[in-house]
Amino acid sequence: MQKLYLDCDGVILNTIFNSYKLLREQGITREEEIIAYYKQLDWDAFITSSGEIDNASLKIRTLYESRLFDIKILTHVNSEKEALAKKNYFRGVLPEVEVITVFKDTKKADAVEAKDAILVDDYLGNLEDWYEKGGIPIKFSDSGKECQFVSITNLLELFALMPLNGKTKRRGVNKK
Ligand SMILES: [Mg+2]
Repeated sequence: MQKLYLDCDGVILNTIFNSYKLLREQGITREEEIIAYYKQLDWDAFITSSGEIDNASLKIRTLYESRLFDIKILTHVNSEKEALAKKNYFRGVLPEVEVITVFKDTKKADAVEAKDAILVDDYLGNLEDWYEKGGIPIKFSDSGKECQFVSITNLLELFALMPLNGKTKRRGVNKK
């Protein structure tokens, strides 16, 4: 089975879009304020109000049932409260998939063994780190915008990339 790590915010849950909206509404722009804001957030309510991107958990179940992928959710968190809320949410909708929470100051590529594993993430920084550790980065983008990594706009596109056979090699390493 192909090891597959899925980012949560901006890939499965629509939390990124929702939090930008909330931060904008409250005029929060400074990094420290943003971190403080995430720390005080009621994450259970926030996850519910954000909702999933494009029925992501149903798609993940389809990927899981294919037995092609060994799937784990790999998500950055700012607080224990956030970690707990995310674990609770996925225990409800995807009990078969493990959720690994990583505190923001640790790289995802340092938290798990990246080598030969896929990471689907919407944040290029995580994908760069993943690539450096010998992992297979795949950019999730709702716009389908090109970047140096193979991009998908729908999690089910992962089927078309299997078997990998070098299909996810970097295109134009210096293009940023
Ligand atoms: Mg993300």
